[in-house]
This record gives sequence, structure tokens and C-alpha cells, in this order.
Amino acid sequence: MARPMGPVRLRRTNYVTLSIGAALCIFIIYFLTSPGGHSRSTTKHSSPIPKPSHKVRRDVQRFDLNKVTITNDPVGNKEKILILTPMARFYQEYWDNLVKLNYPHELITLGFILPKSKEGNAATTALQAQITKTQKGARPFRKVIIERQDFEPPLASQDESERHKLANQKDRRAAMSKARNSLLFTTLGPDTSWVLWLDADIVETPPTLIQDLASHNKDLIVPNCFQRYTDDSGKLAERAYDFNSWQDSNTAQELAATMGPEDLLLEGYEELPTYRTLMAYMELEDMNDVRAEVPLDGVGGTALLVKADVHRDGAMFPPFPFYHLIETEGFAKMARRLGWHATGLPNYKVYHYNE
Ligand code: GDP
Ligand code: MN
Repeated sequence: MARPMGPVRLRRTNYVTLSIGAALCIFIIYFLTSPGGHSRSTTKHSSPIPKPSHKVRRDVQRFDLNKVTITNDPVGNKEKILILTPMARFYQEYWDNLVKLNYPHELITLGFILPKSKEGNAATTALQAQITKTQKGARPFRKVIIERQDFEPPLASQDESERHKLANQKDRRAAMSKARNSLLFTTLGPDTSWVLWLDADIVETPPTLIQDLASHNKDLIVPNCFQRYTDDSGKLAERAYDFNSWQDSNTAQELAATMGPEDLLLEGYEELPTYRTLMAYMELEDMNDVRAEVPLDGVGGTALLVKADVHRDGAMFPPFPFYHLIETEGFAKMARRLGWHATGLPNYKVYHYNE
């Protein structure tokens, strides 16, 4: 049984102990809370790190991602666009076309990544000269970011015949993926609404490219990438260039099922007959409707508009075989696994440089 608590008579010695204790407590509390205390004034001189003062406000930025709109009227809603370009070579025609885009430049951030090779150095110099000129002009971009790659490009030659050899694809496209990922993860902002991937050799697009693509309000949307050339009779003609935008086929799926985990199912090679439906050849069906949409399973990245939320969800460019796909085609697959869909515009064309 517990003893009931009642008034306890203190002995005289207890009063003395209590008073000493109270005095000590007051002293300790004063010592700990005094602003100009002895301990402070000594550490001030001995510590290289200044103590935070109440007067210094740290730089805090708050972003409510729900308020970053991604709509079919990006100009009206002042949506910020990030244009990302991996660049191995500089083409003046690319820059001239870029500057002609009539989306408000004050809403556009440009991001570039260039390899640290001789060609990459030359491209960087040429690019910087144009940036300086444009940023001093009447319509400067909101911000420009130039990055140099921190790894070696796998191919010594950037010539088209060398680039497109089947044996070179795995290493080349893995390197391309890493370049794209580095660029994306260092530039995507909390206020970015859209990411436009635009290759450095896209030399001709409608000036309304961004508005046109965004007006479809699709997660990933890709125009048809063509190439102009002079035919045998000397007449100006055009042909399909990018075969990475496609709809999957049963044949390709069956082929993939027989492959090892590290094998790639690439498009546009005789050695790998996939019988996928290529957007490159779809435009023949109906030439006039530039707004015609088709669902896609794989996308090319020569010009590709992506809702920034797709990337923010984690969709990137796999630098390894992902469902036997790599780079931009792997990206479409990864986005799909995250619940986002790819759309193609067979009759809306952009043009690739012709070497
Ligand atoms: P293709 O048109 O499919 O043959 O592909 P490209 O060789 O044109 O490459 C696509 C884009 O990536 C272009 O903008 C190139 O300038 C760029 N590029 C190619 N290789 C590299 C590389 O190693 N590093 C970087 N940073 N960019 C590259
Ligand atoms: Mn190219």
C-alpha cells in the first residue's frame, strides 16, 4: 500500500541545501541564455564558421507544384519552357531556326550539353558566340545553360555512316542517354511546365512549333522528322529521317521474347526486321491534316515535347536495354510504365540537316 502524501516538515539543513540549489539554477539559466555570454565571445574568435544571427534570413524558395500549369494554352498561362539540346556539332541553321521560334523568349530557358572532344570544343565556341549575340539583342532568352560532358563520347567520328552502323548503336545511344539525363537532371526546374527536346541538327521547324505541339495537350508529342535533299534529276525533294517513332508489332514482340536481357531491338536495320508501324511512312495516308494524331510506343528525340511532370515522375533515357529499348525509345516505354502516353503527328514536319 502507498503511503498517503501529507504536509512534510523540512529540517533546517534542507532549507540551506535548497537555497544553494536555487542559486545554482538561476546562475546556470543566466549563463545559458545571456546573449553576450562569455562562451560566445570566445568562440567568436576561435571558430571559422560564424554563428547564425537572427537578422540573417536564409534564401528560402517555396514552390507549389500544383500551381505550375501545363495546359494547351502555354502562352496565355505564361508557362515556362525548357529547350534541351545535346550538341556534338554546331549548325548555324539550327540556331537561326531556334531564334525564330515565336514563343515568348522570356519564358524559354535553353540548356546545352556538349562533349569534351575537339569537335565539341569547336561547337562550344560557335554556340557561345551566337548566345552572346542573341542575349544582347531585342529578344533574349530567359536563361541559357551550357554544360560540358564529364565522360568521353564513345565514337571518334560523328559522320552519318559511322553513327548509324548497327554495331555502334548500343555504346552510342547509351552515351546519348547519359548526355540527355545529365542535361535534364541539372536543368529541370520546379517551375518548368514543358521540356522541348530539340536536336542540334534540326534546321527547320514552323516558328509556332511549341504552341502547335502544346495545343494538343499530350504527355509526350513528337512531330515527323524529315530531311530535304536534291534528287537525281536535281529537284528538291524530301525523305523520312527518324525511324524511332513507331507503333509496336507482334513480330517485334516475338523477336524481343527470343533475345537475351542485354540485347536491343533497334529500328531501321535490315538485320532486325520488326514490322513495326513507322510514323516516318504514315504521312502518306492523309497529307493535309497537320493535326492528325497517332498513338506511339517508341519516340524519337529530334524534336519532342514532354510535359515536365513526366520527367518529374522519374521518366528518363535508359542508358541500358530497358525492355530491349534504349534512349528515346526506352524513354517512351518508361513513361508508359509511369502511366503517360506518347502521341505522334505524322503530317506535322520538322527537318533534319542533310550532311
Ligand atoms: P542521329 O541524327 O540519330 O544520327 O543522331 P545524332 O548523331 O544527330 O545525335 C542526336 C543529337 O545528339 C544531336 O543533337 C547531336 O549533336 C547530339 N550528340 C551526338 N553525340 C553526342 C555526344 O556524344 N554528346 C553530346 N552531348 N551530344 C551528342
Ligand atoms: Mn541527328
